[in-house]
Amino acid sequence: ISILAIESSCDETSASIIVNGKVLNNIVATQSVHEKYGGVVPELASRAHQENLVPVVQEAIFSSGIDKRDISAVAFTRGPGLMGSLLVGVSFAKAFAFGLGVPLIEINHMQAHVLAHFIEDPKPDFPFICLTVSGGHTQLVLVRDFLDMEVIGETRDDAVGEAFDKTAKLLGLPYPGGPVIDKFAKNGNPKAFKFPITRMPGLDYSFSGIKTAVLYFLRDELVKNPKFIDENIEDLCASIQYSLIKMLMIKLEKALEEYQIKSVAIAGGVSANSGLRSTLERMARKNGWKLFVPSFEYCTDNAGMIAMAAHYKYLQGEFSTMDVAPIAKMKL
Ligand code: ATP
Ligand code: FE
Ligand code: MG
Repeated sequence: ISILAIESSCDETSASIIVNGKVLNNIVATQSVHEKYGGVVPELASRAHQENLVPVVQEAIFSSGIDKRDISAVAFTRGPGLMGSLLVGVSFAKAFAFGLGVPLIEINHMQAHVLAHFIEDPKPDFPFICLTVSGGHTQLVLVRDFLDMEVIGETRDDAVGEAFDKTAKLLGLPYPGGPVIDKFAKNGNPKAFKFPITRMPGLDYSFSGIKTAVLYFLRDELVKNPKFIDENIEDLCASIQYSLIKMLMIKLEKALEEYQIKSVAIAGGVSANSGLRSTLERMARKNGWKLFVPSFEYCTDNAGMIAMAAHYKYLQGEFSTMDVAPIAKMKL
């Protein structure tokens, strides 16, 4: 079974070839046009996908060494994501599958983030709980089997990556702010300033409060000392990061307890955060959890995970019809 997989849900154009369950490559073109706008501009994202997609697919096929005519199915991200971005990938996938006369496989992007854990060893055993943390999502997913998963908690407003990026913007840091906060936080005191830990009912999250808290806090401090941010950047970053990680951890611990599960996986771009990683490692040691962290390449948006998900759907015979359309707010 050889599958070509395409990911175009947000601002990464990516293609991957998987042969008999083994991901052979993962070609990613990251769009840099958005940096100067401090966030992804949907209209520009779809145009960049339009430009990048064919070269990225060509590279994936070429570097895999397979012949285009050996492809047995074409997989694509149906959602969730930006409608204009998704449309580029879906249209291309349809045309390519139609041309080759092979079936189409639609993939849910959030399911793929979870299945990214099965690309490389060690692979988690079922059931496990996956904490998916990215620029667009924050979810706790109970994973019973490859294609059997359920969202048991999620954010009611901003995603945690968004909270990183928006507070970084308030600090005058470049986009995306998550990695910059991470870097400064390493040398800061996480208890220097106290930012709110929002507690939602059940296993849900809320990350919009911290942005407002940081906004008012900075406004007040800057009146007293215009250099406040520069003089305290490391402590500010460490303290913001501390609150964000704390919120993630409270619900993760609660979920593991409620479902009596000891295997934890993390996915999404924010799982690169070094504070989050060290906190998870410490808690795993303390509580006897088994922790699974994929390579960074498979944490952020990538077609390798779409390919992995497509492999399992192919085995189940789950194909799409040619009239399939993207769904911007597709549920897991
Ligand atoms: P989605 O996957 O939800 O469609 P996305 O494309 O924004 O959205 P990713 O590409 O997985 O998601 O991740 C990007 C996010 O990860 C950004 O918000 C970025 O700031 C954050 N991020 C990346 N590295 C770090 C880090 N070291 N610390 C904190 N956040 C980080
Ligand atoms: Fe993603
Ligand atoms: Mg991204």
